[in-house]
Amino acid sequence: MNLDLVYFLLADDLDENLLSLEALLRREGLVLLKARSGPEALELLLKHDVALALLDVHMPGMDGFELAELMRGIERTKQVPIIFLTAGSADWQRRFRGYEAGAVDFIQKPIESDILRSKVSVFFELYRQRQQLAHQYEQLKSATTALREADRRKDEFLATLAHELRNPLATIRNGLEILRMNPHSAETEDVRGMMNRQLKHLVRLIDDLLDVSRVSQGKIDLRKELITLQSALDSAVEASHPLIEARKHTLLLEVPKETLWLNADITRIAQIVSNLLNNAAKYTPDSGTIKLSVTCEGEEAVIAVKDNGMGIPQDMLPKVFELFTQVDNNLERSQGGLGIGLALVRQLVEMHGGSINAKSAGLNQGSTFSVRLPLTHGIQEEETMQAAQAPATETQSLRVLVVDDNIASAKTTGWMLVMIGHEPRLAHDGLEALATAREMKPDAILLDIGLPGMNGYNVCRELRKDPAFKNTIFIAQTGWGQERDKQEARDAGFDHHLIKPVDLERLTELLAKGV
Ligand code: ADP
Repeated sequence: MNLDLVYFLLADDLDENLLSLEALLRREGLVLLKARSGPEALELLLKHDVALALLDVHMPGMDGFELAELMRGIERTKQVPIIFLTAGSADWQRRFRGYEAGAVDFIQKPIESDILRSKVSVFFELYRQRQQLAHQYEQLKSATTALREADRRKDEFLATLAHELRNPLATIRNGLEILRMNPHSAETEDVRGMMNRQLKHLVRLIDDLLDVSRVSQGKIDLRKELITLQSALDSAVEASHPLIEARKHTLLLEVPKETLWLNADITRIAQIVSNLLNNAAKYTPDSGTIKLSVTCEGEEAVIAVKDNGMGIPQDMLPKVFELFTQVDNNLERSQGGLGIGLALVRQLVEMHGGSINAKSAGLNQGSTFSVRLPLTHGIQEEETMQAAQAPATETQSLRVLVVDDNIASAKTTGWMLVMIGHEPRLAHDGLEALATAREMKPDAILLDIGLPGMNGYNVCRELRKDPAFKNTIFIAQTGWGQERDKQEARDAGFDHHLIKPVDLERLTELLAKGV
């Protein structure tokens, strides 16, 4: 729709009348269509959206009234307002016929230019407003459709989310019941292992959810550094190993011997590859084959994850990277996912200046996902070798203050610390934390951020002022893992930042390094 132009029709058999009308009415944004007869006028009316028709009553062949009557019978023209231009009193007496035919006004010739101009201008403005309203209406309509679609997808997503969260929770609850009723049975280890896997799955779902929302709000910061692709692949394989093993797949690796360097965020590259490996494991029937290969093409590394699983139909290939897309929702394919993994993977790949594509010959023909990432020039191998061979430190028992207002969380963290050979004390709010810390002089403090009384940042700032805590390791543990939060923790004086639920291995490692 063109909002800028308004069309008026001028119908008069005399050229000079048309010309003088044109001269009189000319204004910006107005197109004057000129017709010398009734049929010519009709033709123009059918071609354009006319805002006003100025019709001479006297025209040979078809006069103005006849033209108006015809216009009333045609869908496209029946609403066009008409002003008749009349020459004499005879027309004036016939004006009722004109009104019946839909006239809105009569103007006597000779025309008084000011009167005509001001009347016509009302129609011009009215039409413009109508156009604007129609335009706004269209915009509203498409916004409503988009909102409805988003709402439908959100409902669908919430249903999937509830479903995906309930499954692992149900297993964990069953596991707890079994352990409660029969703590020493032969299955105890199996039950624990199963609960652990389900918990990891839950944590991964929540991490993905948070990531996807952060990426779409542009809130993810990459911590780019010079890394080797091989190291990222190692952590990806390590992370996906349990799932690949559980499904009895064979994993083949084809990675070049020479070191490939990337300027990238190692955690994110590992996340990308691990996501693809997990999908390959999920969407391949048990005992399948998954191949992870890397080739160099020019200045790019091409990482391919190929499986011999259920494949992807041709029409779905480009769509699998869209948020909340799952190839079909039937139970056979439903493998515990939210349809966000590949959307996240693509966003992370693109943030690294790379690209991703999916190939499959069709159902049950396997799939191949290829990620291209720009390579960069490396540093001397020796430096990294030295870094990698840093001497291992021996674990020593530390006095650790655990501060968390969630009693259960504090208690279980305390138990974990005892298990790994440390001596914990617990505190549940900011002020208690200050008092206990001053009294026990801990080697490390595991500090929650959201605390009653005084938040974790301020507790850390306060204790950092005291030289007695110069060598204390301050570890923030929070549910907030954005770069901003980590920075805030560093600014407050923390040495480390852990996201809840705290990973025991990571905690062990930090406390071991700290002495
Ligand atoms: P999720 O796995 O959580 O459903 P993803 O975004 O990771 O979400 O994947 C989207 C969809 O793409 C999956 O639901 C699945 O249908 C399809 N898909 C992904 N990887 C594969 C694969 N290797 N083989 C077959 N289908 C796949």
